[in-house]
Amino acid sequence: MSSRGSARPATRRSRRHLATAALLVAGAAVAAALGPRSPVAGSVADLLHRGDGAAIGEADGVLPDGATVSDVRFPGVADLDPALLGALRRAAASAADRGVQLSVTSGWRSPEYQDQLLREAVSRYGSAEEAARWVATPATSAHVSGDAVDIGPAAARAWLSEHGADLGLCQVYRNEPWHYELRPAAVSAGCPRMYRDPTEDPRMRR
Ligand SMILES: [Zn+2]
Repeated sequence: MSSRGSARPATRRSRRHLATAALLVAGAAVAAALGPRSPVAGSVADLLHRGDGAAIGEADGVLPDGATVSDVRFPGVADLDPALLGALRRAAASAADRGVQLSVTSGWRSPEYQDQLLREAVSRYGSAEEAARWVATPATSAHVSGDAVDIGPAAARAWLSEHGADLGLCQVYRNEPWHYELRPAAVSAGCPRMYRDPTEDPRMRR
């Protein structure tokens, strides 16, 4: 009995210690997570914020300038469909042989990030109808499902428009020369006819 009585405060104390230790570990994890992000401070990540005030950042798929298909430390690259990522890596290697650097300006996006982009587009273009020509909803975006990438710079887009089909990489929308998706049949049959813009895409009407 007496040993139990003395054990209780000890247990409480050790729980407090555990809680403190957990906080310290959490703090260290946050510091570790923030450390590598400092080089991209001032990027678009700092400009985009969720409606609830939480920042949209790399965990939502925001990529720093010059991110490549090999930068798997970024969810925007790592969470792409593996087959798409494989084709992009082959493309990047071939392009590099020709002195062309292929960057991913946007890849996988969280639904929150996509929603933020959509709201910005509605604000910029003045109506939901016009915004729909450029930005999909979180429910329909091929970026949110990890099936689309936006490629830059212009030289890389020019290279992809000429050689992408050989790797199954196709531009999908005529008004978005940066947006590519995987179309495996393109390797033998060529890329399918492009939609004028996303409003022609049946996937956008779900
Ligand atoms: Zn895109």
